[in-house]
Amino acid sequence: MASESAPPSLPDPFGDQHFETRCVHVGVDKDDAYNSCITPIYPTSTFRWEGLGKTKGYDYTRSGNPTRRALEESLASLEDGIDCRTTSTGMSAIAACMHLFRPGDHIITGHDIYGGTYRLFSSLFTDMGITFSFVNMLDLANIRAAITPATKCVWIETPSNPLMNLVDIAGVTAICREKNLISIADNTFMSPYFQRPFELGVDIVVHSTTKYLNGHSDVVGGAVITRHNPHAERIGYVVNALGLACSPFDAWLVLRGVKTLGPRMEAHQRGALALAQMLAKHPAVERVYYPGLPDNPFHALAKQQMKGFGGMLSFDVKGDRAKAERVMLNLKLFAMAESLGGVESLIEHPDTMSHASMTAQARKDAGITDRTLRVSVGIEHPDDLLADLKAALNA
Ligand SMILES: *Cc1c(COP(=O)(O)O)cnc(C)c1O
Repeated sequence: MASESAPPSLPDPFGDQHFETRCVHVGVDKDDAYNSCITPIYPTSTFRWEGLGKTKGYDYTRSGNPTRRALEESLASLEDGIDCRTTSTGMSAIAACMHLFRPGDHIITGHDIYGGTYRLFSSLFTDMGITFSFVNMLDLANIRAAITPATKCVWIETPSNPLMNLVDIAGVTAICREKNLISIADNTFMSPYFQRPFELGVDIVVHSTTKYLNGHSDVVGGAVITRHNPHAERIGYVVNALGLACSPFDAWLVLRGVKTLGPRMEAHQRGALALAQMLAKHPAVERVYYPGLPDNPFHALAKQQMKGFGGMLSFDVKGDRAKAERVMLNLKLFAMAESLGGVESLIEHPDTMSHASMTAQARKDAGITDRTLRVSVGIEHPDDLLADLKAALNA
């Protein structure tokens, strides 16, 4: 049924244009039939052949679909990769990457990576014979110390969740080059607008497009972007063989979201900086975690490897868990909810929500308290967010 050949390759006629321009134009304007200015949705499972061996580039939607391919062109361009495959969720993008490896291979990653990634690595792929070391990657010596003859990959996630610790990406990829390891970076938190892992030597970038790339909290999706041909071919093969690809409709929504990525990220950051500065001075707050604050321990590294500080921050409320809960429940503009990266502000309690799948000890080791709150700052006017959060803290 589905051919194993790759869908048409990715030309990038906007490759020399600025980022914001590529967000608007790459993968759009695809309709030769009626010249619609917006990419059409092709909700079809199958495509008519014109003769034996003759299609218009697509034969079956699991293997390739024009709407999905348009999104893949866009994301490949934004990360400056050679190929992209978009998937049903961020987790399926990560699962696709794991199929670059075989039983016996060893992977080094952070001890504070996304909880779903930790679960996938430590259960399903461990059961399949891949081994993992979860180390504190803030100190590069810990990565060197974990390398064994079986090590094949270092998996990077930065900034980390929820405390916004930064891993030195160029430092990690230097080790990977020296030891001939693949480096893979989960770039979900910063988006390619603020962080470009390929420029720092990373081999493969993954995203949960659920977050900033889509930006409107109405899709779950993922992406794997590659910059070397063998990785591009293997990921394409795996996504087709396992059936991980996203639906044409979801691809269309993400493609629409991506058009405003630049202005959205600027607005998220503006709000996050204003909130972080207010929180740092507020008597009801013990500690703020935001790399954009000059006294944050990662501020210098952030300025070196990121083009901005993003829209995520966390803070520890003074007092106890009940006070932290009261702050959340007193808010009017911030919904108490997991996830991040949408235009609306969200607040959550990592200890019992996003990071509940970690053991209590692991949370403690990572520095998460029962008074830590994580905020995904939306694009509302910063003055309204400030007033709402101040009122909730003072109540
Ligand atoms: C949300 C998230 C994922 C998982 O993505 P889903 O779309 O929920 O499957 C992976 N990594 C990070 C950093 C995330 O924030």
